[in-house]
This record gives sequence, structure tokens and C-alpha cells, in this order.
Amino acid sequence: MKYLITGGAGFIGGYLAEALIAKGNQVTVIDDLSTGSMDNLAAIIDHPDLTFVEGDILSMDGLEAMAGQNDYIFHLAAAVGVELVVHDPIKTIETNIHGTERILKAASKFDKRILVASTSEVYGKSTNEQFSESDDLLIGPSSISRWSYACSKLLDEFFVMAYCQKANLQGTVVRLFNTVGPRQTGQYGMVVPRFVASAVTGEDITVYGTGEQTRCFCHVLDTVNALQQLADNPDSIGKLFNVGSHNKVSILQLAQQIIKQLNSSSKIVFIPYEQAYEKGFEDMLHRAPNTSLIKDFIGWEAERSLEQIIDDVAVYFNNRG
Ligand code: UDP
Repeated sequence: MKYLITGGAGFIGGYLAEALIAKGNQVTVIDDLSTGSMDNLAAIIDHPDLTFVEGDILSMDGLEAMAGQNDYIFHLAAAVGVELVVHDPIKTIETNIHGTERILKAASKFDKRILVASTSEVYGKSTNEQFSESDDLLIGPSSISRWSYACSKLLDEFFVMAYCQKANLQGTVVRLFNTVGPRQTGQYGMVVPRFVASAVTGEDITVYGTGEQTRCFCHVLDTVNALQQLADNPDSIGKLFNVGSHNKVSILQLAQQIIKQLNSSSKIVFIPYEQAYEKGFEDMLHRAPNTSLIKDFIGWEAERSLEQIIDDVAVYFNNRG
């Protein structure tokens, strides 16, 4: 099969490209390298089945033709990380909305299947213990730029569903919950690489807010398995799935576990959200997926533990020096 991955030099895209190539497929990656990096493709960059195209999905020529030349499209190109989103909300909105619009038009025109990556951010400030795909969504006000990410991704979801219903698009949507693993950079705010990088160097670990907020961290290899299984199953067309783990932990516990597991001398310090992000920043207190839909559908469940995630990320940082 021939696969096109937008955002394929990103953290998740790189693993997906590796997995698809390992199975004997041909993969074309489009990435503007704004947050993606060739390091994420290092293991396969010289592989004859990989084609890398540097380009911005908002403006590049040839996007439509590339969609037509491939059998399946993974649309992962998006603004990444809360910190980046807060600092560059215009680019976030443009990429997430116009970029997705372009690729959906192309997929629809050539009748190609497409999987679009959305985010658990769309659940917003919901206080449900677990978030289910059919839940109502509770997003904060437009004066707080964090919510532009959730809103733009939500509009992408509506776009996919509308194209499926009105233009026979063969689209699938996934809502990804805190995907983590080796090669993820802490540069755009992600907590696990930040904490592990600090722990291996003995620097202070900075917890935002009280640290009582909880997340469920999912190993990128589990996430990539889910994406491939959904792509392999034509019954996923027109459907939306949560993809996440049940490795639930508070951010303070995460810091403590990382220090203990890595035998680190780091100290934990707390700073207010306002200092970390922007005035009026709103965080989600708890965010956990209900994954019964995807489990019932293809039998997928995240397999890797938080301990393994921390170990794998630590090995990566230690190897990098
Ligand atoms: N966080 C933190 N210290 C950091 C980075 C993040 O305490 O150096 C917190 C952040 O405020 C959030 C949680 O860790 O409550 C997860 O943040 P991340 O950006 O990894 O993902 P999010 O769940 O916000 O999308």
C-alpha cells in the first residue's frame, strides 16, 4: 500500500512512518519541519520506500496530486503543544482549519480513505470521570487562547463528518489523549519529556499549578498500533474514536515517580499557571478516556505502563547526552 502522512516528521508521524515501512509499504511524508524534525525519520530516511517532501499543507503545490497518488492518508499535521498554541494562536487556527480543509478536499476528490488526528482537548473543561466520544463538550471562552486549539480541532471533526455525510468521504477521526514516548520534545510544553530531561540532569522539576491535575499517558507505540488497526478496518469510516491509556496519574505524582524511578536528585518546584502560560490560563483538572468504543471495535487497548514510558524516555535522553 501507498500511504501519505501529513506531519510525518512529527513525533507520532515518525513512528507511524517507521511502522508502515517495516510492513513493506511505501510512505510519503509531508512536513514543514516547523515543529517536526528530520530526527524523527532518521531510522528510515535512506529507505527506498520513504519519500520526504518539505512543505506547508496550507500553501504547498502538489498536495492534491500527492493525495491522488496514495491509497490512504494519515492527516497528522497540526499545531502541537499547549505552549505553542498559547503563543501562536493565529498559526494554530490557520493550520488546523485551512490545512485540514485542503487535505479533505483532496481526499474527497480522489476518493481516498483518510484518518484525521483530533485531540482530547476537545473535551475541554468537562468534569466527567472518563470522556466518551458521544459526550457534550465544554470549551472555555474565546478570550483564552488555549481553547482555540480545541475549537479548531473540533471544527476539523465537523468537517470530516460533513464530508463523510455529504461528499462520500471515507474519513475516520481519532481523539488522541496525551501521547508520549522517546523523541518527544519538551520544547512545546509536553510534561513527560520535560520532567524526565530535568530528572536525568538533576535540575528542578517544575510543576504548574498544584500538581493535582491528572492525565493518562499513552505510549506512542500503542497509539501508532491503534492508528494502523483503524486504517486497516474499512468499518472505521465515518466513525470517531478515543485513543488513550488508563495510566492515570496526577502531575505531582508523575514528578515523584520519575524522580524515584530514575534515582534522581531533582527537586520539585511549583509555579502558577499564569507564569507558565498566560494570564487567565485555564487547565483541565482531569482528563481520562473511555476507550470501550475502540476496544469493542478492534480489540485495541494500550499495553505499555507508565513505568515503561518513563524508562523509554529516560533511555532516549541518556543516549542523547
Ligand atoms: N505541566 C507541568 N510542568 C511542565 C509542563 C506541563 O506541570 O513543565 C502540566 C500542564 O500544566 C498540564 C500537564 O502537565 O496540567 C500536562 O501538560 P502537557 O502539556 O504535557 O499536556 P496537556 O494535557 O496540557 O495537553
